[in-house]
Amino acid sequence: MSVHKGGFSASVNAMYDRAVALMDLSPGLTEKIRVCNATYTVRFGVRLRGAIHTFTGYRSVHSEHMEPVKGGIRYSLAVNQDEVEALAALMTYKCALVETPFGGSKGGLCIDPTQWEPHELEQITRRFAYELIKRDMINPAQNVPAPDMGTGEREMAWISDQYQRMNTTDINGRACVTGKPLNAGGIAGRIEATGRGVQYALREFFRHPEDMKIAGLSGSLEGKRIVVQGLGNVGFHAASFLSREDGAKIVAVIERDGAVHSDDGIDVDELHMHIRENGGVKGFPGASFEAEGAKLLEADCDILIPAALEGVIHEGNAARVTAPLIIEAANGPVTAEADAILRKRGCVIIPDMYANAGGVTVSYFEWVKNLSHIRFGRMERRAEEARHQVLVNELERLSKNKEVAWTLSDNFKRDYLRGAGELELVRSGLDDTMRSAYGAMREVWHARDEVADLRTAGFLVSISRIAASYQAKGL
Ligand code: GLU
Repeated sequence: MSVHKGGFSASVNAMYDRAVALMDLSPGLTEKIRVCNATYTVRFGVRLRGAIHTFTGYRSVHSEHMEPVKGGIRYSLAVNQDEVEALAALMTYKCALVETPFGGSKGGLCIDPTQWEPHELEQITRRFAYELIKRDMINPAQNVPAPDMGTGEREMAWISDQYQRMNTTDINGRACVTGKPLNAGGIAGRIEATGRGVQYALREFFRHPEDMKIAGLSGSLEGKRIVVQGLGNVGFHAASFLSREDGAKIVAVIERDGAVHSDDGIDVDELHMHIRENGGVKGFPGASFEAEGAKLLEADCDILIPAALEGVIHEGNAARVTAPLIIEAANGPVTAEADAILRKRGCVIIPDMYANAGGVTVSYFEWVKNLSHIRFGRMERRAEEARHQVLVNELERLSKNKEVAWTLSDNFKRDYLRGAGELELVRSGLDDTMRSAYGAMREVWHARDEVADLRTAGFLVSISRIAASYQAKGL
């Protein structure tokens, strides 16, 4: 359950206010950036199971300093106007921080998607999309949704198709939404993108011993004990990559029905399968079960990854959370009150606006791909391979003239000769984005004593970019 004093938006605004107090912005511009520009509420009826069911949906636009505005659509019974507005604001700050050229938006539909059959969900989604499309609240140039909690590729494909049916001559129609399946205009690596971004963010943090020292950590990600809350798309991919590729140890996973923990580490791929088959983590072999899952947020570990809902670390439990490093894979998992408590005890928080920006970053690549109508790497790949082959041939020719003959290993040749395809390029672009954004944040973090934490630093970077963009428009 989310616990925010005064609501989610109030929490985001409190964090914004803390940061903006360190800037020299006019009160007018400070207010203009903070407020949510508009929220559209729609109630529509769909005839299902012999009766008319009325659904309530939202699309909120926080800032249009750049267009299109960008942000996911969430399907959950907990969706409400305050939540959508807070999430839209976070999208604004996130996009500015990772330099994706978008304003911030978010959408939501009050629905429990598990209660409906796929063909019913399709009807509901198409109708919701229709309501938004006819008001230009889904449009490649103005407002581009994406998946969020409770939605995925399937819903994005329906939305894209709905837009194209209603705009048959729009050659850029597919760019009206991102997170689509690959065969419907999607991009390689979008599903894993947010989790991959969390991994790249942690790798970047661990490249800076001074920053690790602030959290009281040293060494590498190898062997670090991680607690993950939420094994959805983001939490699962992050945990799987960090354990399989970086040698980190997932010591606890918190899910809806409780938590499982094991000091020896949990195989998250197997646990993921177990959840699919059994509907929860209970009964997972080789790990202990704890019915009161939230208790594990307080477990002894090196890194805590809240990857589910907002407000899970709040005034009521923050003092008991002992992790030296928290990386916010979810949007808003730490309330403003909890943030203050954690900062006071020296916990380092890698903030949501940076940590989970991998999703929107790869969405940006997908949008560009749709507008350019060509897959990344299609033109260059073989040319790159041919140039590499020229070099390998020349090296091999030279080696033959030496007294001591040497050869290039087959593994080297295989790796070196392979030109980058779309997935490699997407990962490279994402890695670069995560590294640059961290660099921008940490520079501000270390340059000014008053900037005591990464969240404030992130806000400073992002607010100054948004302010510059408003000022350039003459506002
Ligand atoms: N829903 C994701 C987020 O919160 C992705 C948004 C997007 O790709 O536009 O960042």
